[in-house]
Amino acid sequence: MRAFVLTAPGEASVQEVPAPVAVPGEVVVDVERVGVCGTDVEFFTGEMAYLHEGHSAYPMRLGHEWAGTVSAVGDGVDPSWLGRRVMGDTMLGDRTCRACRRGSQHVCARRQEVGIRGGRPGALAEQLAVPAWSLHPLPDPVDAVLGALVEPGGNALRAAQAAGVGPGDRALVLGPGTIGLLTAMSCARPAPRCT
Ligand SMILES: [Zn+2]
Repeated sequence: MRAFVLTAPGEASVQEVPAPVAVPGEVVVDVERVGVCGTDVEFFTGEMAYLHEGHSAYPMRLGHEWAGTVSAVGDGVDPSWLGRRVMGDTMLGDRTCRACRRGSQHVCARRQEVGIRGGRPGALAEQLAVPAWSLHPLPDPVDAVLGALVEPGGNALRAAQAAGVGPGDRALVLGPGTIGLLTAMSCARPAPRCT
């Protein structure tokens, strides 16, 4: 299959790579839409801290804001995922440590991050393999463009909820990128709290 491969700072190309296989507990997704994040730009320039801390290394396959359709399931995965439109979590914790058991897999010391950390290939490719437990089904009205915005949208929603902004309050959002704008929207129209 084709994938966007970053081989060094400022050096990337579309390459033929082996298609992913659905190993036990995982699925393969046919990718329909992928966002490009500020993190991806930092990997392209070589500035991303993970490159210097040993969490990531070239060659890399980027892409962690994605939407697609499940096309294969590994052993132990509910076959009803086949054909479903999905997006998925970026942060893949080990699911065993104290942070993970408290729902904070984003700070798990042993986490992988899709297209970012720990050698887990990203979604800027025709196909992507991820654990079934990291999937979220997309309702029909949420198209692939919006589906790829769920991941940055989740960041923004968490940030807005952490700020605790209520009616009549004023809030300053620093940074006018996608997540900054989504954070401002989330502050202006608070959504029901996630549980
Ligand atoms: Zn953990």
